[in-house]
Amino acid sequence: MDHPKYIFITGGVTSSLGKGIIASSLGKLLQARGLSVTIQKFDPYLNIDPGTLNPYEHGECYVTDDGAETDLDLGHYERFLNESTSQGNNVTTGRIYNNVITKERNGEYLGKTVQVIPHITDEIKANFYKLAKTKKYDVIITEIGGCVGDIESLPFIEAVRQVKWDVGANNFLVIHLTLIPYLKAAKELKTKPTQHSVKQLLEAGIQPDILVCRSEYTLPTDVKRKLALFCNVELNCVIEAMDADTIYDVPLLMRKEKLDERVMKKLKLSTKENTNLEDWRIFLGKLKNPLNEVKIGLIGKYVSLPDAYKSIIESFTHAAAETECKVDLQLISSEDIDKDCVAKQLQELDGILVAPGFGERGIEGKIETVKFAREQQIPFFGICLGMQVAVVEFARNVLKLEGAFSTEMDPNTPHPVIDMMAEQKKITQLGGTMRLGAYPCDLKKGSKVASAYGKLHITERHRHRFEFNNKYLKDYEANGMMATGINPDTKLVEIVELKDHPWFVGTQYHPEYRSTALNPHPLFVRFVKAALDFQKKKNN
Ligand code: GLN
Repeated sequence: MDHPKYIFITGGVTSSLGKGIIASSLGKLLQARGLSVTIQKFDPYLNIDPGTLNPYEHGECYVTDDGAETDLDLGHYERFLNESTSQGNNVTTGRIYNNVITKERNGEYLGKTVQVIPHITDEIKANFYKLAKTKKYDVIITEIGGCVGDIESLPFIEAVRQVKWDVGANNFLVIHLTLIPYLKAAKELKTKPTQHSVKQLLEAGIQPDILVCRSEYTLPTDVKRKLALFCNVELNCVIEAMDADTIYDVPLLMRKEKLDERVMKKLKLSTKENTNLEDWRIFLGKLKNPLNEVKIGLIGKYVSLPDAYKSIIESFTHAAAETECKVDLQLISSEDIDKDCVAKQLQELDGILVAPGFGERGIEGKIETVKFAREQQIPFFGICLGMQVAVVEFARNVLKLEGAFSTEMDPNTPHPVIDMMAEQKKITQLGGTMRLGAYPCDLKKGSKVASAYGKLHITERHRHRFEFNNKYLKDYEANGMMATGINPDTKLVEIVELKDHPWFVGTQYHPEYRSTALNPHPLFVRFVKAALDFQKKKNN
């Protein structure tokens, strides 16, 4: 095969149908047949990347090894495929325009009027093809964000149409994900919204090859027939996608519906008889048949939108399967916690996680939370801001450094135990300028983290501006908060843990970006085990 097969996934009727999960599931199934697959997402908004977006707008910002701030769907791609993605896997309209305008200023289009067609669409296509230049892929799945018919996705749809002529009809396939709503009063599944959204694709010159139909009820054959006839697709290419118990069921459901077989046939890909999904089935089996259950609190400030903590929530799912211990994850707003109610709010928990975040809102509740976990010997996991808060709490209540804080919250604190690095202070632009992406870290022998990872050199992904202030390190270690992970190049503290505590770990990096279904993150696994130990002790 000289160049990869291109599969495009568009969405119709409404957003939030789960294009990312369908893309990931199809990717998984093709990968299980021995094909090398990657998935990329093209988003029609004007931000260069989602890094500056409030999590309430767009959910979590996912970070790749190469330091790209990306859409949360890339997290699904990695969690399903167990492979790293990169900046090339997520492109926005903002980035496309930025590239084109930069080229225009550099005189690359000299003499020409720069236009949406062909310059923007050519730039989109060049980005569709970019990953194939970095590695040999058999299949590249491209998810187009938003809905067909949106004004802002028009150039993407036009670019998709043109791809067929670039790569040839045998190497090109469009899957349209749509919704079949059920009208209770009429007791009927309705196909009209899908017919309309397919019409919109047809107007743009694209005939979808496969329809994947989200529905709360199974699709009777007459409904499938109607969809096939009016949307111009083969009957066996109308695929039903019923709501699932967990997103991790979807690859198996799509297998049952033969989505991968239809794709293989249409793209003339040679089929391996045996789809290897054994590991996946074992993972699901363990996830669905837990032997124990723990209650863990996730304390943060974006709790009303769980998507803001997507990777952390999924990491707990992976750890739950690994430990065969169900995690009842309670999302608790740190704004609801103060000195007087902290015990009441948190007393039922077997483990406490303080989440990443930015800014001052809810910070005192997080500090009270850490104090409670430290004093009550409840397993504690602090991630990024959660680690920084643990450092602040220790300064105030153990080292007795009055007014100690992070300079993010109080630039005039007498004890800046968390502070900005000199190079960060020079930065004025906000987008893409944090410490981002994978950095190495050396672990201390004999530490809890070293035992969890089972090795002494790791790399993990970062996304922050502020750091542990090494001026105070001696004082911390003399009093029992140990720096057990250090960046070998910069000597920055990446991990702290408490000596006299069953499990109290704070990481400056984000372990949640590296956890996948088949490769659960060791720190989440150990944290769940610690919570279970705590619960057993409590009950005895
Ligand atoms: N706000 C903190 C910083 O910038 C922590 C960031 C985070 O939790 N991702 O350093």
